[in-house]
Amino acid sequence: MKAVVFHSLGNVSVDDVPNPLKLDDSIIVRVKAAAICATDLRIFRGERSAKENVILGHEFSGEIVNVGSNVKDFSVGDKVAVYPILADGKCEYCLKGFRNRCVSRKTLGIDVNGGFSEYFQPPPEMIRLGHIMKLPQNVLFEEAALLEPISTVINSLEKLQVGFGDNILIVGAGPMGLLHVMLSKLKGASNILVSDYVEDRLNIAKELGANYTINPGKEDFGERVKEFSKNFGGFNKAILTVGVAGIVEQLLDIIQPQGMISLFAGGGKAFTSIVDLNKIHYKELVLTATQNATSEQFRKAIGLLSSGSLNIKRLISHKFPLENALDALNLRSELKALKVLLIP
Ligand SMILES: [Zn+2]
Repeated sequence: MKAVVFHSLGNVSVDDVPNPLKLDDSIIVRVKAAAICATDLRIFRGERSAKENVILGHEFSGEIVNVGSNVKDFSVGDKVAVYPILADGKCEYCLKGFRNRCVSRKTLGIDVNGGFSEYFQPPPEMIRLGHIMKLPQNVLFEEAALLEPISTVINSLEKLQVGFGDNILIVGAGPMGLLHVMLSKLKGASNILVSDYVEDRLNIAKELGANYTINPGKEDFGERVKEFSKNFGGFNKAILTVGVAGIVEQLLDIIQPQGMISLFAGGGKAFTSIVDLNKIHYKELVLTATQNATSEQFRKAIGLLSSGSLNIKRLISHKFPLENALDALNLRSELKALKVLLIP
């Protein structure tokens, strides 16, 4: 079968690899759609490593085509999505419900074979943990490929307790920023301000519910925030969906007292900052972050998608056959693409 394989730092190719063998304790999933994420891009560009010869991809959905004799909970034909974390299920964090923080966590597409392939076979423990999740019939495969990013945004907004009355600044209108717009709106946020350098993305943000947008390349960021504040009374929550350290200091100045700032994106070596801690103290600010999502939040993402209240299609800008995955990865590196799907 065709698969996108990591060989060594910066060396990723589309290869012919053996099909998975039928195992009594596992299943085989025919991958129907997979989405490219920023982590895949970092691996592709040689900015981060993965396990040698691992199949990339942790955002995908598919249909079960083989069920091992010892597997009782699944049938051939089931539509599934995969919570892409392998956890031990018994450490302190797992027992608290945070499998994304498991002390022996492994991630699909980095440490264990992922879904950029025609077939996916989960390690048996993944089935036992309940990380292969059945999808309601009305959920489309292509949309279900975005369940993982949706779940991470649920995590982000739950940590910030976003709800009625909140004015939120979202930094970055890439796919993750736009998902933050859509979900903040669903959670009842009052006003949403979005900042990005790409005008097309800001237009989509408006279409999806942003009240105000800022293009710092064309407008004065501080002035535009003041204008927003005059109308809506300032913002009390801010989320960085791009790893730009410089803006944190600025946010500490302009966010309302008792506000919360969350670092949703990481940013590599350059993502360091020296901030005046007095600003945090005297304004009683909270500086926090989220990474990944819990398995419970992944289940919530399935429910949300199934409810039909998310216009998730709007985030899918391109589709490529799996064999053209390298073109897809190159395109995704350009800012004009949003979510790029691979269709095996
Ligand atoms: Zn654990």
